Amino acid sequence: MQLILFGAPGVGKGTQAKILSSKFHIPHISTGDILRSAVNKKTELGLQAKEIMDKGELVPDDLMLKLIDEVLHDEKAKNGFILDGFPRTIQQAEKLDDVLENLSSKNKLCVIFLSADDELIVKRLSMRRTCSACGNIINLNYIEDPSSCPYCGSKNTFIKRKDDEEDIIRNRLKVFHETTAPVINYYKDNGCMMEVDGTLAVEEVTAKIVENLVKH
Ligand code: AMP
Repeated sequence: MQLILFGAPGVGKGTQAKILSSKFHIPHISTGDILRSAVNKKTELGLQAKEIMDKGELVPDDLMLKLIDEVLHDEKAKNGFILDGFPRTIQQAEKLDDVLENLSSKNKLCVIFLSADDELIVKRLSMRRTCSACGNIINLNYIEDPSSCPYCGSKNTFIKRKDDEEDIIRNRLKVFHETTAPVINYYKDNGCMMEVDGTLAVEEVTAKIVENLVKH
C-alpha cells in the first residue's frame, strides 16, 4: 500500500500517518521530520533548509526531489509507505510518479485529502507543542494540565516549533493554497483519491480513511 496524506499544515496528516503506519506496518515518511532532523544535525541539507522552514516557505524542489529519490529507494519503503508532506508542488508529484515507475512498484497509490478550515488550523497549530523528553506531540487545547506531558509525565518540557507562530502559520497556509492545493488536480483521475473531513475526532478520521481504503 502506498498512501499520500495530503492537506494543509496542521490538518492532522502526521497524526493519521502514525496511526496508519502502525495499523498497516508500512513506514511513515514525513519530509518535514526529515528536514527538521537535518536542521538539528546541521547537515548540508539542513543548513540550506533552515531559514526557508523558519519562514514557512517551501524548500526548493531540486533539494526535495533528491531527498524523495533517496528515501523511496530505501529497503524499508519496498512494501509500501505513507507520505506525509510530499508532494507539495506539481513538479514533486511528477517526480514521485517517475520514482515509482522506476521502482516498478506493483503497489497501488492512494491519495487521502484531509480538509479543514484555515481558522481552525491556526487555532490548532498555535497550541501545538512537542514534549522534549519523549518527542510526542500534544495540543494545549486538549490536555488538562498544560505543564505536564500526558505521555511521559515530564514537567515543563513542551517546546513550540518556530513555524507554529501565528504569522508563520498564516504564511504556511498561503503557500498551501497558492502552490500545494492545486496538486490535488494532478491526482483527480487517480482511481484511489478520497477527501476526508479533518475536523472530525482523530478516531473518526482514521475510521473513514480505512473504510474508504477497503472500498478501493
Ligand atoms: P511539515 O512538518 O510537513 O509542516 O513541514 C515543515 C516545513 O518543511 C515546511 O513548511 C517546508 O518548509 C518544509 N517542507 C516539508 N516538506 C516539504 C516539501 N515536500 N516541499 C518543500 N518543503 C517542504
